[in-house]
Amino acid sequence: MKFIFLGPPGAGKGTLAAQVMEKYNIPHISTGEIFRTAIREKTSLGLKVQAIIDSGALVSDDITIALVKERLAQPDAAEGFILDGFPRTIPQAEALAEFVQVDAAVNFDISDEEVVKRLSGRRVCKKCGQNYHAEFMPPKKSDVCDMCAGELFIRDDDKQEAITHRLEVYRSQTAPLIGYYDTLKKLINIDARPATGEIIESFMKLFPLK
Ligand SMILES: [Zn+2]
Repeated sequence: MKFIFLGPPGAGKGTLAAQVMEKYNIPHISTGEIFRTAIREKTSLGLKVQAIIDSGALVSDDITIALVKERLAQPDAAEGFILDGFPRTIPQAEALAEFVQVDAAVNFDISDEEVVKRLSGRRVCKKCGQNYHAEFMPPKKSDVCDMCAGELFIRDDDKQEAITHRLEVYRSQTAPLIGYYDTLKKLINIDARPATGEIIESFMKLFPLK
């Protein structure tokens, strides 16, 4: 099956993709991973991307699309894949449709309020990097790491303002894709609030393994 995963930051897409990848035996393809691989393997596109990133500019749509096309042509993606982080915009989705037909765009649905609650509760240990959550996975002693007694802190990305900004970017750029795939009758909404195991169960009911 060929999937596109949609959902705001904090919806847990990475964790869900990792499980779907394993169960369906298909690669999880994120743009970050494609960029890193192309750079590491020094492909002609990889060298271009490296130069662009080094110059501090953003990688253009044309190059991103070319990289995605190259990646999806690899043998491991022939039977299916999970595309995560691409497409981000309608023009990217239209470009993608020119070389591949996906089976479903799966939207992991979660409210802004829930995202803020999830992300703003994250705490990271300064010393060892262990992750906690103030509400869902608290340390034994407030703001102190269970592992190494290091001090816990909030990453800049997880501060309220940064989260609100990331959500705004997502809602304005990526949310239109939900309408786009809905019109194509390819949109599947899945509630991203339950525990991961429960979400995967719903997912597998919708897309039974052959
Ligand atoms: Zn620690």
